[in-house]
Amino acid sequence: MAVVGGGVTGLAAAWELQGTGADVSVLESGRRAGGVIVTERRDGFVVEGGPDGFLAAEPDIQVLARELGIGDRLVDPLARGSLLWNGKELAPLAEGQAAALLGIEGQTGVDVSQGFRSFRGGMGDVVEALLARLGSAVRTGMGVTAIAPSRRGYRLSLAGGSVVEAEGVVLALPAWAAARLVAALGVVAARCLEDVLYYPSVTVSLAYERNGLTGKLSGTGFVSAGESGTPVRACTYASFKYPGRAPGGYALLRAFVAPLDGDPASVAHAELAKILGVTGAPLWSRAFHWTRGVPRYKPQHAQHVARMRELLSLLPPLEIAGAGVDGAGVSACVKSGRAAARRVLERMAGTNRSRQQAGD
Ligand SMILES: Cc1cc2nc3c(=O)[nH]c(=O)nc-3n(C[C@H](O)[C@H](O)[C@H](O)COP(=O)(O)OP(=O)(O)OC[C@H]3O[C@@H](n4cnc5c(N)ncnc54)[C@H](O)[C@@H]3O)c2cc1C
Repeated sequence: MAVVGGGVTGLAAAWELQGTGADVSVLESGRRAGGVIVTERRDGFVVEGGPDGFLAAEPDIQVLARELGIGDRLVDPLARGSLLWNGKELAPLAEGQAAALLGIEGQTGVDVSQGFRSFRGGMGDVVEALLARLGSAVRTGMGVTAIAPSRRGYRLSLAGGSVVEAEGVVLALPAWAAARLVAALGVVAARCLEDVLYYPSVTVSLAYERNGLTGKLSGTGFVSAGESGTPVRACTYASFKYPGRAPGGYALLRAFVAPLDGDPASVAHAELAKILGVTGAPLWSRAFHWTRGVPRYKPQHAQHVARMRELLSLLPPLEIAGAGVDGAGVSACVKSGRAAARRVLERMAGTNRSRQQAGD
């Protein structure tokens, strides 16, 4: 079995497959697995480059964490509620509205009012636990360039020229990458995935001495209204939001900045000084540039994906999963990856039964 893409979706799919005793390889093009989950730990700070939590009402990542033996690393926020920066003042915002404004929507029907949760060592905890359990099944530097049906399933061509054979495949790729591979299989409907827009952004973490934050920070952060005129789309008060994000006497803030000319850290600091009354200079900053950040779907996305899945069901077992198809939230990705893995297994069992009946 092959899982293409080693973000949280692909790793969750591989975990599901490994649990059934299947022989699985995760083929990840990058030098590291985890996809957009990037946690760096330095000098007692926990710096998130991508997601910093997940919707508390979504059970899937929490169930996974318990299976992986890291249930005791789940943490609740220290504060609740976000504010809206309208260019003049910070006004209260309903719980869950901040996530929706940032495009991190939950699965349909999920109660966003319960806010977010995270892990003691950051979101990297869950990736590290998955990698520890999946071991050599995760193969980095293995970008898949093409997929073609073969006698026993699929032949996957890798950058560099080698080939991997697999009876079943889970594609856990960003939408644009999945679109290309699936359309080449003759499923033209996969082109609809090119309509999924990934908005660029920069996340800038800034470390301060605690007493340099003279303004009152209430809640977990703020989101900026479109008309507010600031390039800071949102700010998370990281060390006030979750425990253990900064050592005693220090604070960590994280700004989401629109792509801009110049140094995003200087811009972020200058804006936060204005909005929050930060007086001290940052001790250091760390920026992550997301040319393709959180995906947003167009209307009809769910119908297009359903149609694509219908067409894929006519081919040898291959399933699509992940933020590009089933929801951008991390927990939704875990759910999507595991469900795709189960569907591939069911379809493989069906294919094997047919082969036995045909005496193949
Ligand atoms: C800045 C930011 C902040 C976010 N904040 C939150 C948050 O607070 N809460 C929340 O719930 N969600 C958040 N999200 C969304 C969430 O993190 C993502 O939607 C989710 O992690 C995506 O997981 P994925 O595995 O589907 O995709 P990815 O993480 O994109 O993984 C896909 C993987 O496929 C690999 N790949 C690509 N092409 C190939 C190929 N041809 N062959 C092999 N491998 C390939 C990539 O290298 C990558 O590792 C955030 C996202 C971003 C970017």
